[in-house]
Amino acid sequence: MQEFGGKVALVTGAGSGIGEATARLLFAANAQVMLSDLNLAGVARYIDTLGSEAGSVAHDVSDETQWRRAVDLTVERFGRLDILVNCAGNGLFQSLLDADAAAFDAAVNVNQRGVFLGLKATTEALKATRGCIVNVASVAGLKASPGTFAYTATKFAVRGMTRSAALDLAPFGIRVNAVLPGPIDTPMFRATPIPGFREAIAQATALKRIGLPEEVAKAILFLASDDASYITGAELVVDGGLSA
Ligand code: NAP
Repeated sequence: MQEFGGKVALVTGAGSGIGEATARLLFAANAQVMLSDLNLAGVARYIDTLGSEAGSVAHDVSDETQWRRAVDLTVERFGRLDILVNCAGNGLFQSLLDADAAAFDAAVNVNQRGVFLGLKATTEALKATRGCIVNVASVAGLKASPGTFAYTATKFAVRGMTRSAALDLAPFGIRVNAVLPGPIDTPMFRATPIPGFREAIAQATALKRIGLPEEVAKAILFLASDDASYITGAELVVDGGLSA
């Protein structure tokens, strides 16, 4: 595992699923970690086990003012910011036929605007450390599936923002990459209402199983590590071969 001693990470969506696994692995690799989530109930389940090298902030990623506060609190608490993991996500799946404007806006506000605001809010702090950003997109951003209209649109957008930001931030030594998870066993995945979905998508992967949050977290840590020093604007697909 990579070593993150002396590095400070801000992880959104850290109260659940992939964000929680990422925060735990970063902490285990000696990073100082600020755990951000919409409400802190999920973070409260485990933050006490991490000790004083972890902090928390209640933070709606669709709100620009709350982003400024989250970044300020991180730098006040730990003195710097090296890594942003944009992991918070809205997994409301609806077809174009069912989606109304409010549901579309909710997906865009979290999955797309939330990533944009995170890129903006952390730029100055990351310039100071020549840090990096990992955005959590999805294989839904590679290929559409029925019944996921807004989610698919936002995940295609995350891929575009990742590439564009990588070009704009490279002059400052800031790398920006994305992971594209396939089916991962988290509360968001388990909430999918389609009967038989879990078994069907597991069989559609080459490896014939659902992935674990830790398997995505390890890819995030690689992209955030110095081992990925020449990687920017890239996408790492973590889907058990679903899209192969
Ligand atoms: P999860 O377990 O539901 O975690 C998502 C977290 O984001 C939750 O803690 C949620 O808080 C938080 N969140 C939602 N809206 C937020 C907001 N406005 N501000 C701040 N935090 C907010 O889901 P997950 O599967 O780990 O998903 C993490 C990321 O992976 C998402 O971007 C998702 O799209 C992506 N992804 C997941 C899969 C999969 O199969 N699981 C596949 C591809 C991509 P609440 O619980 O309080 O709402």
